[in-house]
Amino acid sequence: MKTCTIKGCDKKHIAKGLCFMHYMRLKRRGITEGTRPYPYKDGLTTIQRSRKRLIDYMGGKCSKCGYSGPALQIDHIKENGNMHRKELKDNRSKLYNAVKNNPENFQLLCANCNAEKYYSYLKFRR
Ligand SMILES: [Zn+2]
Ligand SMILES: [Zn+2]
Repeated sequence: MKTCTIKGCDKKHIAKGLCFMHYMRLKRRGITEGTRPYPYKDGLTTIQRSRKRLIDYMGGKCSKCGYSGPALQIDHIKENGNMHRKELKDNRSKLYNAVKNNPENFQLLCANCNAEKYYSYLKFRR
């Protein structure tokens, strides 16, 4: 039996070297890759990817010290956004849209600068 040519797929061949599922995918979207819940080749999950995309979108480095690396965090500039932040934390695409619509409300901070900001905020309140 001829099978699908996609690596890791041994379903029955239908057309163009592909199984029905992959052929339909190619026809519909022009690609044979699907959205997968497990990590991609680069080891990132879908959530990590959308986070990385967001960070890239925001410039990819800390707005205070210029650090660019895995310890970057998306920071709400306005501290009164606490409720909003809680809500956004549960929904990545919501956060992505919020950043896109109001980029002035967000900044990238590395873990270090974020902690510094947090402590100066506490001092300020005391
Ligand atoms: Zn296939
Ligand atoms: Zn920093």
